[in-house]
Amino acid sequence: MRRISILGATGSIGQNTLDLVRRSRDEFQVVALTGGRNLDRLAADAVEFGAEVAVTCHEELFAPLQERLAGTGVAVAAGQGALIEAAARPADWVMSAIVGAAGLLPGLEVIRRGGTLALANKETLVCAGALVMREVAQHGATLLPVDSEHSAIFQALTGEDIAAVERIVITASGGAFRDWPLDRLASATVAEASSHPNWAMGQRITIDSASMFNKGLELIETKEFFGIAPDRIEAVIHPESLVHALVGFRDGALMAHVGAPDMRHAIGFALNWPERRPLPVARLDLATIGQLTFRAPEPARYPALAIARAVMETGGLAGCAFNAAKECALDAFIAARIGFLDMAVVVEATLDRMSAGPGLQFAGFDLDMVLETDRDARRVAEEVIGLRG
Ligand code: NAD
Ligand code: MG
Repeated sequence: MRRISILGATGSIGQNTLDLVRRSRDEFQVVALTGGRNLDRLAADAVEFGAEVAVTCHEELFAPLQERLAGTGVAVAAGQGALIEAAARPADWVMSAIVGAAGLLPGLEVIRRGGTLALANKETLVCAGALVMREVAQHGATLLPVDSEHSAIFQALTGEDIAAVERIVITASGGAFRDWPLDRLASATVAEASSHPNWAMGQRITIDSASMFNKGLELIETKEFFGIAPDRIEAVIHPESLVHALVGFRDGALMAHVGAPDMRHAIGFALNWPERRPLPVARLDLATIGQLTFRAPEPARYPALAIARAVMETGGLAGCAFNAAKECALDAFIAARIGFLDMAVVVEATLDRMSAGPGLQFAGFDLDMVLETDRDARRVAEEVIGLRG
């Protein structure tokens, strides 16, 4: 029996992970499941999978969660500290599927005990890539990518020498507004931005796909995870979302990963790694699909990409500031405090203000500096949002 935990179990990635675990119930012992406000889901899953502990990240929800799990034998905990304790529990495999920078500390806890961390939470690498990769090496931890593009790259690199890689291409669907007239973007609503053409995902990443902040985060994630220079990483629009990424080698070969847009592939690959086992994903009929198309992203439609490129060049803590500003801008858009296009303006203005201060590009940062930069960037972003809203 493999002992596994799922951080962010109630979300889109968490539920897809449980779907796979459910299909091979007798192979897994579920240790910890964590969630947020969806206590009914968390409690039902904790009972179904016989979890040792169920944790909500909201301290004030301890009593209602305890009520739902009374007499079930599932232990209950709540709050940020409890989340970290859940991550620290011995387990053979842990899924990091919390959304946002909140995933960083629980994930680091797994790394620090030398565990295996399946990483859907891209923010972990965007905020603290150098530190995270250093700690992975230091503690002999295993980090497995779950973002579909990064899983695709990881698979294309199997058996290859990273020194032979010339370029990496990640694909983007283009999101909800890829075919909208540019002059309509300013008035795009939250509901319109929350519907994705190809993937069913959490609301935040879906809106980030429409703005391409998600692809910006993924460019940075690629640089940090694979140690590839920024000018060797490209993003291309591929509306069909069937090719997830391509790795180009120095002999000119491009190895593409092709598959249905179903996160259970990347999750299952990480769950079964280093084996490949059958997965319940659709098999593609290429003749029916007929054609795959690609086009360059328009800079005017997707300003987030240029901002992310500048962040990659700066390195250091710029990714942390970028992500924190983006989270605030996204919150403000969801709350209808700013418009869709204002998100990029807020992030850029926040980074401009912060680069006037000391040391964003400092590569030898520690965890305290990450947390401080995250707080500073949120404060600055709130000021900028206040001026616009
Ligand atoms: P989601 O919003 O559906 O779920 C997020 C989970 O995190 C929930 O369990 C929620 O309770 C928990 N959570 C939210 N805020 C928290 C906090 N402050 N502290 C602790 N827990 C908190 O999100 P999702 O779409 O499943 O995405 C999860 C992560 O995976 C994100 O980093 C996202 O970018 C990444 N990702 C998602 C997909 C996808 O298909 N959904 C694909 C690739 C990468
Ligand atoms: Mg992705």
